[in-house]
Order: sequence, then structure tokens, then C-alpha cells
Amino acid sequence: MFVIEERQNGEFPLQYRRERLTGLSCTISPGRLLRGLDHPSPTPAPPLDCPFCPERLEAETPTFPDGTRIRRGESVTFPNRYPFAERHTVGVICRSHEVGRLTVRQLADALEGVAASLDGAPGYPSINWNYLASAGASMPHPHLQGLSDRRPSHLPGLYIDASARYRTRHGRRYWNDLAEHEAGTDRWLFGGEVPFIASAVPLGEREVRGLLPVATLEEAGPYLAPLAGGICRVLDLYRSLGTQAFNVALFFDRFGSDRGFSAFCSVIARINPNPASISDSAFMERLHQHPVVMTLPEELGPRYRMVESEK
Ligand SMILES: [Zn+2]
Repeated sequence: MFVIEERQNGEFPLQYRRERLTGLSCTISPGRLLRGLDHPSPTPAPPLDCPFCPERLEAETPTFPDGTRIRRGESVTFPNRYPFAERHTVGVICRSHEVGRLTVRQLADALEGVAASLDGAPGYPSINWNYLASAGASMPHPHLQGLSDRRPSHLPGLYIDASARYRTRHGRRYWNDLAEHEAGTDRWLFGGEVPFIASAVPLGEREVRGLLPVATLEEAGPYLAPLAGGICRVLDLYRSLGTQAFNVALFFDRFGSDRGFSAFCSVIARINPNPASISDSAFMERLHQHPVVMTLPEELGPRYRMVESEK
């Protein structure tokens, strides 16, 4: 399933890895851990004027067209004021502005609320989470983001197409074969309805993936609570390793689809805590592998010519 080549650079081994299914590749350099880049992050900024805190949320966040927000437990989900997808929602996870450790219930409720906000959306849904500024979170108050677009972003598109080819070629689901292949290895974390496995070809630091036994958001309801439990266990593991910032993305195939894909959740730890700025690499860049930028390239040519003419 994976190609692993090991080489030596000085005293440190280097590994080059490739996932056969998709061709995704990475390099692993364990020696770089000695640089001490992954020390604990500072705590999030204080509330100040946080619009996600309960006393301001009603006044400062938008509602759906019918005037409502979706509430599940402590969580509140509403449309994103600055969308970058055809449907883009925000799910504030908890009432507290700052929490050391969320409960499984808090996260499960928020996942259910955001899932409900994507109900009936055309295309390819995902549920995502940037935690702390160094992971690209622009708001420190813990919140999920629900997205759905007519086209899948790069990474789920790659897996959806490759899973279909794998099933055609082998007559089996890649994801069942993957779980079987990984069980009992050092990458296996824990099993259950949603097994969690350290990704053999990690796309980020300490990447762990949770595999759902279904492909679409419509089928995922019963697995959101076990998924939340698994994510919380992974985040405990990260904290024990000294990292607090992370990104999460949970990818689904489109409604009604059955072509060999399994929904999965990818979690990566983020290092280089930097309290002075917000990273411009968040779940879209790191996990969807589909950059979201702000400037139209077509504005740069005229802008360049204007600056030149004023010289
Ligand atoms: Zn807040």
C-alpha cells in the first residue's frame, strides 16, 4: 500500500514515502524534532470583543434565511459571514472562549450541528477545524467550519477517484483493506466503530486519520459521536507530545454516492506557535490541499502597470 525508502543524511535517517493509491508523497526527517520547534503554544487571546462568546453571539453573527441558528447542546451553528464555499457555515463549539480540553459531548454536539447545516447542500461536504492562530484560526473561540461545493477540493477528489479505481480493479473497498493492513502495526492507535490510524504517508505533523464505515454525510449521523471521541483521544495524545495547535478535516463523498470511498477525518498537529500572527495556512491549504487566496491574479497585471506608470 505504501512505498518507504530510507536514506541517511549525516547521523539522521530520512524516509521518502509514497501512497500507492493516490501517488501522494512525503519526506520524514525525525532529526528535525531535535530543533525543539514543537513546544507548547500560548493560550488563545482573551475574549475582548469576541463575537462567538455567548453575550455577543446573537447580536454579532448572521442567521440562516429563516432567521434561525442551529443549536445542539452548547454549540451554535450559523452561516459564515465571509464564505469561501457555496455553502459555508460556522459552528461555535462551546460557550467558553477558552477551554483546555473539550468534552466528547461538546465536540459531538458541534459536529452534529454543523452536519445539519450542510444537510441538502449540493456537492461535496466537509467539516473542518483550525485550532489556535498558528493553525490558521482567525478567531480564538473554538469553532468548526462546514463547507460544501459542487466540486471536491483536491485531496478528497484524489481519494474519491482513486478509491473508485481501486474497487474496479480489486473488487474491494480500499478503506477496508487499509484498516486490515494497518491493524497490529505501530501506526494503529485504536479500533471501534471509527478506527484511528497514524497516516503512513503523513501530510502533516503527527497526522492521524479516523475512518468512517460510510461514504456520505447523510449516512454519518451514528458515527459522529464515536468520531468525536476519537478526535478527543488524538488531541490528548498531541498535548502529551507538547503540541496544542491542530487542524482537522472530515471529508465526505456527495449525496447518494457509492463508489468505494469512505469518509475519513484527518488530524494534524501544528508546530511553530507564533502568538504575534495568524498563519495563512489552515485546513484548506494543509488538509484539503486546495489553497484559498484573496487576490485575483488579474488584478496584479493592471496593478503592476499602474505602479510602474507612477514611478
Ligand atoms: Zn469568545
